Amino acid sequence: MTEPILLEVSGLSKSFDQVKAVSGVSFQIGKGQVVGLIGANGAGKTTTMRMLATLELADSGSILINGINTVDHPHEVRPLIGWMPDYFHPYKNTSVREYLDFFARAYDIPGSRLLSAVNEVLDFTELGELQTRLINKLSKGQTQRLCLARALISDPELLILDEPAAGLDPKARMEFKNLVHLLKARGKTLLISSHILSELGEMCDSLIFMDGGSIVHDGDKSSLLHRQEETGWPFEVK
Ligand code: ATP
Repeated sequence: MTEPILLEVSGLSKSFDQVKAVSGVSFQIGKGQVVGLIGANGAGKTTTMRMLATLELADSGSILINGINTVDHPHEVRPLIGWMPDYFHPYKNTSVREYLDFFARAYDIPGSRLLSAVNEVLDFTELGELQTRLINKLSKGQTQRLCLARALISDPELLILDEPAAGLDPKARMEFKNLVHLLKARGKTLLISSHILSELGEMCDSLIFMDGGSIVHDGDKSSLLHRQEETGWPFEVK
C-alpha cells in the first residue's frame, strides 16, 4: 500500500451470546481508497462495520483511524466517520431538511456553518428540490441518497456504507455509483458492503471477502473471482 493508512483494524472479534459474529478480523485501508466488504447474509459485515462506526464495542482487537484508537477516543473519531446503516427508520412528519438539520446539530456543527453544511449535502445528493418533502414520502433511491447525505454531514474522511445499493433499481444504482466516484475524486475513503459482487466491483480498489465472521480473502476483483471459481465461495457475482 503506497497511500498513508487511514483505517487499521487488528484482531477484531465480537460474539453475541453463543454466536461468534466476527472473529479475528484484521485489515488496513489507505487514504482515498474504496474498499468493498463482500459476504453472504450472516457473514459478519454489519457487525464489523458497526464496530468501526463506534456503534458496537468489540470483545477484543483494536481500531485505529488516523492513528487514533476509536475505543479510547470515540468523540475524537466520530466526526471523521460517516455511517450509512442498511436499515432506515422512517421518521414521520420530518422533512428532508429538518432531518439533516437534526443530524448536523447532533454532530455539533456550529450555528454559523449549519445552513451551509446542510445545503452542501443536499446539493451533492441532488435532494435540494425535495428538501421540504416528508421523508416517509421519498422513493427508495431518494431515501438512500438522504442516508448518504446524513453520513456526509460532518464532512468525514471515512465513509462506512452498509449495503447502500440494496433494493435499488439499475438507474438508482448507477446514480449511487456516480456519487461514490465523486466522493473518491474528493479524496474520501470508503468501505462499502454488499453480498453481490457486481454492486461493488467497478467502484472498489480492492475487495475483502468475509465468511463465518472471518476474512478469507483481501485483494483485487480478479483474484477474488479466481478463488471463488476454485472454492465456490458463497456470494453472488451478478
Ligand atoms: P447481512 O448481509 O444479512 O446483513 P452480515 O454479514 O451483515 O449479514 P451480521 O449482521 O454482522 O452479518 O451478523 C453476523 C452474525 O451475528 C449472524 O449470525 C447474526 O445473527 C449475529 N448477530 C448480529 N447482530 C446480533 C445481535 N445484536 N444479537 C445476536 N446476534 C447477532
